[in-house]
Amino acid sequence: AERWTEVPLAPPDAIFKLTAAFKADTYPNKVNLGVGAYRDDNDKPWVLPVVKKATDILVKDPALDHEYLPITGLPEFTSAAARLIFGSDSPVIAEERVTSVQTISGTGANHLGALFLSRFYGWNDKRVYVSDPTWVNHHQIFPLAGIPVSTYPYYDPQTIGLAFGPFLETLKNAAPRSVFLLHACAHNPTGVDPTREQWGQIADVLLEKGHFAFFDCAYQGFASGDLDNDAWAVREFVRRNVPLLVCQSFAKNAGLYGERVGALHVVSPSKEAAVRIKSQLSVLARSEISNPPAHGARLVSLILNNSELFEEWKRDIRTMAGRIIDMRKELHRLLTEELKTPGNWDHIVNQIGMFSFTGISPAQSQALVEKAHIYLTANGRISMAGLNSHNIRYFAESLDKAVR
Ligand code: PMP
Repeated sequence: AERWTEVPLAPPDAIFKLTAAFKADTYPNKVNLGVGAYRDDNDKPWVLPVVKKATDILVKDPALDHEYLPITGLPEFTSAAARLIFGSDSPVIAEERVTSVQTISGTGANHLGALFLSRFYGWNDKRVYVSDPTWVNHHQIFPLAGIPVSTYPYYDPQTIGLAFGPFLETLKNAAPRSVFLLHACAHNPTGVDPTREQWGQIADVLLEKGHFAFFDCAYQGFASGDLDNDAWAVREFVRRNVPLLVCQSFAKNAGLYGERVGALHVVSPSKEAAVRIKSQLSVLARSEISNPPAHGARLVSLILNNSELFEEWKRDIRTMAGRIIDMRKELHRLLTEELKTPGNWDHIVNQIGMFSFTGISPAQSQALVEKAHIYLTANGRISMAGLNSHNIRYFAESLDKAVR
């Protein structure tokens, strides 16, 4: 018999499918709001000036070779990455209680973190709780590592905000020592983050129940424009001794999507535990990737370890976050002041990060795609990065029509 007849055809990835449909569309004013990558005001990918500078330095270095990195990655990258997320004065770093391993961007950090927990976490109830909704890939990454996924309420369509009460209830009712995946900032896909006070209450319950926080941090700096501000929740949880790990991505904040630069940081109760954890993460990394890619990690390491480049990076981050925030304000202004679009649109300016949940229905989303050539996912999520001074009025007018 023919081989592979039993292999079913998998459905295409929704986002990549949307991008393909956008590319095939010949309408001149088409708009792509599905894209999860930053675009400048001319809808072009933006190479950060600091990344250009770091690339220049790197390629001119006569000592540059193409040897393998260590299994756990470039040490000067992973240590600087840990200081970036936890703060350079963090006691867990001084006490050597952080195990940091370089990963294949944020996706690889999620995967390695999942694999590690799957093997070594002291489970009462083997599952990970993720927000409803969450980055869709979470639903694939964890089962692949042998961890079933459950959801906790997160988004309230009534208020287009946080379903905080039901979220806390789920935290309280979960088996002790459960694992909760939390978006460190700029929640994908809703753009809705807990307030600092709410984070505090979440930490209270996690501590009471002995739960574990699996932080996914894909947007540090990209959300508010400030690296420290966007790391606040993680640092507060560390300060309060919530057991946790952090998945870190440099795709968005350094514009290094294709280089796959990331890290997994596990915080341990002791230096001695951190050493054992590192040994096991090495075994897992060795069998999966042998050692991580060098180029992007070298670039980020140059930027993080050189104060001049670091300051320049912060400026570039403010440029990206600032443009996104300006687009939110302008969209809000167009809808509420100029077009007098029915409904409340305050969530557009209250939400944070690359994405905004508009609150429109799947039928209205579909109408935008079919009638206006504006590409967005059926859940009504738009990438603010796809908006710019040239297309925002067209988008606001089309949205206005779709909801009337
Ligand atoms: N987690 C979340 C919540 C994300 O939005 C993303 C990017 N879409 C990632 C992780 C990982 O992205 P990458 O692997 O490109 O770093």
